[in-house]
Amino acid sequence: MREGPQRGWPIHVQVNDAMSDTAALMTYAVPAVAIVAAYGYIQSRLHRQSTAVRDAAHAAGLTEPPAIHPVIDPNKCIGCKACINVCPEMPEHRVLGMIRGKAELIAPSDCIGHGACRTACPVGAITLVFGTERRGMDIPDVGPDFQTNVPGIYIAGELGGMGLIRNAIEQGRQAIAYITAKRTPRQDSVLDVVIVGAGPAGFSASLAAMEQKLRFATIEQDSFGGMVSHYPRGKLVMAGTAHLPLVGKINFGNTSKEELLAYWQKVQHDTRVPISFKERVIAINRDGESFRIQTSAREIQARNVLLAIGRRGTPRQLGVPGEDLSKVTYKLMEPEQYSNRRVLIVGGGDSALEAATTISELPGSGVTLSYRAEAFSRVKPANRERLQAAAEAGRIKVLLRSELVSIETDRVLLRHEDRHATLDNDAVIINAGGVLPTTFLNSIGVKIATKYGTA
Ligand SMILES: Cc1cc2nc3c(=O)[nH]c(=O)nc-3n(C[C@H](O)[C@H](O)[C@H](O)COP(=O)(O)OP(=O)(O)OC[C@H]3O[C@@H](n4cnc5c(N)ncnc54)[C@H](O)[C@@H]3O)c2cc1C
Ligand code: SF4
Repeated sequence: MREGPQRGWPIHVQVNDAMSDTAALMTYAVPAVAIVAAYGYIQSRLHRQSTAVRDAAHAAGLTEPPAIHPVIDPNKCIGCKACINVCPEMPEHRVLGMIRGKAELIAPSDCIGHGACRTACPVGAITLVFGTERRGMDIPDVGPDFQTNVPGIYIAGELGGMGLIRNAIEQGRQAIAYITAKRTPRQDSVLDVVIVGAGPAGFSASLAAMEQKLRFATIEQDSFGGMVSHYPRGKLVMAGTAHLPLVGKINFGNTSKEELLAYWQKVQHDTRVPISFKERVIAINRDGESFRIQTSAREIQARNVLLAIGRRGTPRQLGVPGEDLSKVTYKLMEPEQYSNRRVLIVGGGDSALEAATTISELPGSGVTLSYRAEAFSRVKPANRERLQAAAEAGRIKVLLRSELVSIETDRVLLRHEDRHATLDNDAVIINAGGVLPTTFLNSIGVKIATKYGTA
């Protein structure tokens, strides 16, 4: 039976409904499904990438952050990725990642404590802490005026627990302001302050001491720039904005290690701020109202001491005969100088492997890598692979379970698997880690609290 026009009207309506349903499906549901699918795909890709980075870090034993670092509360985290996007180490280092939709610290040893993640987190899921449950971090007792429990001994920069160049610059300047405020000018030969270290904190403090017309000396055991001078060549440095005394507010922005050091060297040259390089502070003893500062070259008397010595410590020496020869160094500075030379590198960390593989690529070089353990278990996988390739290509001779016994002008003596071996040699690079300044601080009487993952 046919329906009349009036009765047929609903049929038209039904047709239009079906069309509009299809249109609505196309307009809303399909894009929504596509968005959900794309989101799911991105999430699962991020999860896979993050898990891979985390597992590689664990396999290499790189699980301990060197300084202040984030702890993320998974119950608060909403998975917005703000912390990942804001981390200044990205994309060179994937420090934070997403695992099962929650942020995690996936490469702890790459975290240098920018702290930008905490500020970016919209729900307060991030706390910045020192040390971990397994490995405590020694934090000296420092007051808001940068003075320690030993009156007259001040601490600025990374040694106090806060990393970053701009913090170090700021603290060096502020510590000198407090020292200046307490000063009573006297007519004697005792200095107002000895600044130990010429990294960002010590350099800024030295400029501030000059600006304040203090009588001071700055002692640096190595060369200029502190940790910055040890960064890999060409490293992108995120230094931000800081107030450099005698210069003013500087926006360093993102720059290279070389540009930053060149700028600081220019400031040093223009201001003629005095810094004594290659001189090491060995001991500090109280002498009445002042301190006697024993260095590798002299004794200095000062009313205050500002320790700006960082946390990375002093290179560990092996104490073997011949270690004082000029061909021995503790870091790789200018690789090109090792072309056509027979080089022994001692150590089993990333620095040792990087030095060995870099030199092995130079024309005419002959590289031996000596390490006392059985395997390179705590290095980045990429460095281990590079070493393996160089060893297989015959560019590096690797001596595991070996120890350096003595160094002579043109050869070295090693003990390798209970046998002695003599190698012709032109240069030795010792990368045996660092001696932390804790013992040094203890000897001065500065109290230290060990933090196990607390703020
Ligand atoms: C790989 C890496 C990458 C980094 N990247 C960045 C970055 O991009 N941006 C950023 O802001 N921060 C970065 N940092 C952190 C930054 O380098 C440090 O926070 C900063 O250098 C700390 O400055 P400081 O002056 O306190 O100490 P340091 O730079 O460590 O300087 C301490 C100085 O004291 C000297 N010294 C020590 N003991 C003695 C002694 N007994 N006698 C005389 N001298 C002594 C040392 O030789 C050294 O020169 C990075 C750190 C690392 C390890
Ligand atoms: S910013 Fe906060 S909420 Fe967002 S992913 Fe990171 S920790 Fe989670």
